[in-house]
Amino acid sequence: MSKSLQAIRGMNDILPEQTPLWRYFEGTVARLLDNYGYKQIRMPIVEFTELFKRSIGEVTDIVEKEMYTFEDRNGDSLTLRPEGTAACVRAVLEHGITGGGQVQKLWYIGPMFRHERPQKGRYRQFHQIGLEVFNLDGPDIDAELIIMTWRLWGELGIRDAVKLELNSLGTSESRGRYREALVEYLSAHHDKLDEDSQRRLKTNPLRVLDTKNADTQAVLVDAPKMADYLDDESRAHFEGLKARLDAVGIPYVLNPKLVRGLDYYSKTVFEWVTDKLGAQGTVCAGGRYDGLVEQMGGKPTPGVGFAMGIERLVLMLETLEQIPQEIARQVDVYLCAFGEEAELAGLALAERVRNELPNLRLQVNAGAGSFKSQFKKADKSGALYALILGDDEMAQQVVGFKPLRGQGEQQSIAWDALAAHLATCVVQG
Ligand code: ATP
Ligand code: MG
Repeated sequence: MSKSLQAIRGMNDILPEQTPLWRYFEGTVARLLDNYGYKQIRMPIVEFTELFKRSIGEVTDIVEKEMYTFEDRNGDSLTLRPEGTAACVRAVLEHGITGGGQVQKLWYIGPMFRHERPQKGRYRQFHQIGLEVFNLDGPDIDAELIIMTWRLWGELGIRDAVKLELNSLGTSESRGRYREALVEYLSAHHDKLDEDSQRRLKTNPLRVLDTKNADTQAVLVDAPKMADYLDDESRAHFEGLKARLDAVGIPYVLNPKLVRGLDYYSKTVFEWVTDKLGAQGTVCAGGRYDGLVEQMGGKPTPGVGFAMGIERLVLMLETLEQIPQEIARQVDVYLCAFGEEAELAGLALAERVRNELPNLRLQVNAGAGSFKSQFKKADKSGALYALILGDDEMAQQVVGFKPLRGQGEQQSIAWDALAAHLATCVVQG
């Protein structure tokens, strides 16, 4: 028997009853980013594999085991993007828009692909809104990114459920000195480390700090601390960031173990975490990557950015029941017409109304039907009002106007007056 067709595990359809919430979320973020002066950029979903190896780092979880990599018909190795920063850097370099110190404040939205174990809040195709700023090296812009997300949590009604974790990884020089000290310490305790950490000790020692293994965590208690190795400049940068967050009143906790999964971070790293989603608690994460552009072949160009996981944030809105009432209703007015003549008049009338009220959500009944069935559809659509065109209305060139959610009797409105009347009773988005 043939197997029924199915979506790939970890890659989800977003069904019509879910899209209003997605669009509300995405619209809220887009408006906020517009208001802060960020511009959208759109990159391809597929890039040369080499791009991700060079930017994300060969010995990261993403590159080692999570990428969707394949050969195309030319024999080129291509990869479905696992994140947005690499492609964004490639794009700004390719188009020369960060040259000569030009500041770019960019954001993007779209699907990302990682071959992980699917579970709640963790998927193989997931969606991010990400943001990158180029050619600003001060803590003021790091602060702006965090302030902006703080405002977003406020607008979405989830501020009380998220917590900001902060750390500084220093410059690559100070991080190098710290790495040496850490490796020396961990090597002395090699036997007590879990297998994964033993491997990371060789490939990417900072990632040992990230371990979930209790025995390794115990070893880490007395390990050298990055904070003691920070160079003066990184220290001043970090203090500058904290002072700005304090000035705006944004609480944070310092987490010296926060190193982030990607290789390219320097100085500031941060995560917004929640305990409302179970194990998948990071909803937004980012940091500074002053060395990345140069590492990818450009002139030295400071950069800082973050990405938030849309699935996790939508889940949070659902879990915390922060779903605005008005997004559920997608129809304002539903027009029912009975008989062929009324149907034609109804179509023309609907277009006239739409000309005058471009934001009105007016649905015209399709598929004809009895009075009863059309009314049922009108009610089910969620519309506030039904418009009725039958023989009587046609004769008098009026339309029946019937409130569907209580409030008032049916009345007759002249065709010429309909748009003006609707304008007074439907609040238009
Ligand atoms: P995690 O520690 O949860 O694996 P990460 O450090 O790999 O996250 P980033 O690469 O920083 O995540 O991506 C930024 C955000 O994108 C995450 O904070 C999360 O909200 C979201 N995200 C990352 N991977 C997934 C996934 N597989 N499914 C859903 N959302 C994800
Ligand atoms: Mg991950």
